[in-house]
Formats: sequence, C-alpha cells, structure tokens
Amino acid sequence: MNHILEAVHSKAPHETQFINATNEFVSSLEGLVDESVLNVLLNPERIIQFSVPWLDRDGKTQINTGYRVQYNGAMGPYKGGLRFDASVNLDIMKFLAFEQTFKNALTGIPMGGAKGGSDFNPKDKTEAEILTFCQSFMTELHNHIGARIDVPAGDMGVGAREIGYLYGQYRRLTHSNEGVLTGKDVSFGGALGRPEATGYGLLYIVEELLKDLEVSIEDKVVIVSGSGNVAIHAAHKAVSMGARVVAMSDRSGYVYDENGLDISDIQKHKQKGNSLKEYEGAKYIYDHRIWNVPCDIALPCATQNEINEHDVKALVINGCKVIAEGANRPLTPEAVDLVAISDVYYIPGKAANAGGVAVSGLEMSQNAQMRRFSFEEVDVELKNIMKRIYTDIKESSESQGQPYNFILGANLSAYQKIARSIKLQGVL
Ligand code: NDP
Repeated sequence: MNHILEAVHSKAPHETQFINATNEFVSSLEGLVDESVLNVLLNPERIIQFSVPWLDRDGKTQINTGYRVQYNGAMGPYKGGLRFDASVNLDIMKFLAFEQTFKNALTGIPMGGAKGGSDFNPKDKTEAEILTFCQSFMTELHNHIGARIDVPAGDMGVGAREIGYLYGQYRRLTHSNEGVLTGKDVSFGGALGRPEATGYGLLYIVEELLKDLEVSIEDKVVIVSGSGNVAIHAAHKAVSMGARVVAMSDRSGYVYDENGLDISDIQKHKQKGNSLKEYEGAKYIYDHRIWNVPCDIALPCATQNEINEHDVKALVINGCKVIAEGANRPLTPEAVDLVAISDVYYIPGKAANAGGVAVSGLEMSQNAQMRRFSFEEVDVELKNIMKRIYTDIKESSESQGQPYNFILGANLSAYQKIARSIKLQGVL
C-alpha cells in the first residue's frame, strides 16, 4: 500500500497535514484494505479554489482565497463545514475533508465528505465586512453546492451569523429555499440542538467508554481546550453529568479554578468577543500548555496539533486516563504514537466529534420533510448515534484483536462502509 501513498504524497509533498492524516489511516489498516479502493480514497474527487474579492471599511478591495474540497461522494451528498481563519490553506482543507469523509460514514447517515473555507480572518472585521465577505464567498460557491449535491455547515470562524449571511446570498442567487446549509437559525430551517451537538456528542461517547470501563463520570476532573462552540457545549455537558471542568483556554492562554469553572459565565464573556485574558472569574494563566493541568479526562476542542508528545507526557504523569477529541486532529502524529503505548484511552475526532455532523444530517432530513424535530428528539437521536458509533468502533477494534484501539476501530468501521458504496457503484 505504501506505493499508493507515496504516489499521492509526491504530488504535493508540502501538504504535511494531509500526509499525516493519510499516513495514520493507511498504517492503521495495513493488510485490511483493497488497494483500488484505497487509491480512490486517497484522492479527493474535486477541489474548487476561487478568489473572494470584498470591499473593506475604507473602500479598498481585499482578496482572500476560498476553497471547497468535495472529497468523496459515494455515500451521499458531500457534507462538511466551512472554516474562516487566517491559517486556512489547501493542505488544511484536504486533511479536514479526508477526515470528514470517514466521520460522516461513522454516523450511519448517507453523507459524503467535504470541507471548505477561506483564509479570511473574521476576528478583526466589522459586521459589514463579514456580511460583504460572506456574500462574495457564496457568489462563487453557489455554483458548486445544492441540497442534493453538497451541503456545507459551520466550523471555526463560521457560526450562526455567517451561515445566515451565506444562506441569504444563496437564496438570492438561486431563488431556491432548499436546505443547502446546516447550522441555520431555527427560524429558517435550522435544527434545534445543532450548536450543542458536537460538544454534547463528545460527552455522550466519553460516557459510553466510561460505562464500558465501569467507571462513573461523577467528580471526574476535566480540562477542555478552546472556549468556542465545541468547547463550551462539551464543558456544559460534562458539568451536567457531574464532572468538574477546572480549565479552559483560548488563543490568549487558559483559565483555571480547582473547584470548577462557571461555564455559563465564560460563555457570556466569550460571546461578547472578549478573550480569556480579560476574564476575572478564575485564575488566568498566560500559557498555551493547558495540558500541564492535572485531570482525569482531557478534551481538546480548539484546533489541530494542539497536543504534542510533551503534552501527552504531562497528561500521563498527572494521571489523565481519557483523551477524546472534540477538535479535528488536535494530537500531532508523535503525540498519537505516545498515547498508543500509554494506558490512556483515546477516542479520535472522527468518532468523538461526529455528533455535529450527525445533527447536521438530521437538519438535512428535517428540511427535506418540511418539518422540525424538537430539541429532545434531536438529543435522543444524537445520543443513540454516539452510542452506535462507540459500539461500532469498539467491535471493529476487537475484530482485529486490538480492543480499545479506537484509531483502528474508527478507521476500519468507516472504511468498510465507504468501500462498500464505492465498489457497488462500480467506481473502480
Ligand atoms: P470556534 O471558532 O467556535 O472555537 C475555537 C476555539 O479554539 C476558540 O476558543 C479559539 O480561541 C480556540 N483556538 C483556535 N485556534 C487556537 C490556537 N491555535 N491556540 C489556542 N486556541 C485556539 O470553533 P469550533 O468550536 O466550531 O471548532 C473547534 C474545533 O472543533 C475545530 O478543530 C473544528 O474543526 C472542530 N469541529 C467543530 C465542529 C462544529 O460543529 N463546530 C464539528 C466537528 C469538529 P479564540 O476564542 O481566542 O479565538
């Protein structure tokens, strides 16, 4: 299989994130995959790249780059978030789209995988600049998406506000009120429970693991990196399950309270656009190494590569027993290797943070049926999906004699579902 991997990597040797993601996938499934299917899966079906011109507050034209990587559509319409962040580039888009393809397969909802976004940084922009940018971005993107073709959602830097602006522009351009984006406001077809879904789903899968290990989550000490959408809802759910969230972070550093943070207060503080540096409700530490804080459970929910091998050593020494990824690939490859030889239970993002896209799938289904599920219905379905994913990845790991190797379990289970679709459609 290595020759296929080498051929793919030689086309873009600078794409380190994509190389890391595909290396991990292939090495975990050594001897278990069909070479022809693998060849299909290592190459994105379509990459769309475009320029996004927009007028800034001084009337000057600015240009950003927009992307949509439609990675694999064998299982259903392409599906995956849009990220607006200065760090966005084609490498990051490809690796996220690759991961998304397998994550979506794990949900059991018929969706293909995609990812998109732009190197536009919404942080220092005015409301009018964000609106103008979103309209320009959609002016190009609308040519490539559709409710049965490709259904984007939010991701870092793209929340309900941006989804609203993008949807409005899509509707103006196409005269179509179809559910072409998920993460919409409930007033125009959004699913109740979508903002909470990724964070809640993360805790539901952690709960399944702990149940399996016959351990209670009550009084467990939890640290959560980030304080955005995924992190805040993960922290809320952890607290509601009886755990104590003692540390959370953002780009400025982290806040700590050994008695447990007030998550609603942090949420309000962040929603006003403040950084944790200005938060007065807990001790602020000017440091990105939140992973030095002793904990039972670590939930990385900020961004990729936020945990390196030194962080894993610190977590292990301080007694951490579970790492579950709210973010996409927050562990570097070296960190993953170290976790594999430790006694930490590790649930990779493609399984652990699949709750968000699962509820996006429910949003697509409620839009198609012109109906709305209640918050409780969505929450019950989310819990069932996360339970099913846990059972799937556990059984797949056991089938190879490697129980609790959830990287293997997630990759194998997702691969088997996608490979079946690819083969039955005669794509090979
Ligand atoms: P948000 O933009 O809402 O929040 C991101 C948080 O992470 C912010 O608090 C941000 O800090 C912090 N952060 C970002 N980059 C860094 C960095 N380099 N160092 C330290 N902190 C950082 O994004 P989401 O919560 O939506 O997404 C977080 C992760 O979860 C991403 O990896 C995303 O791909 C993944 N994910 C998201 C899903 C969703 O439904 N939203 C679904 C599945 C995965 P600050 O507040 O200072 O900007």
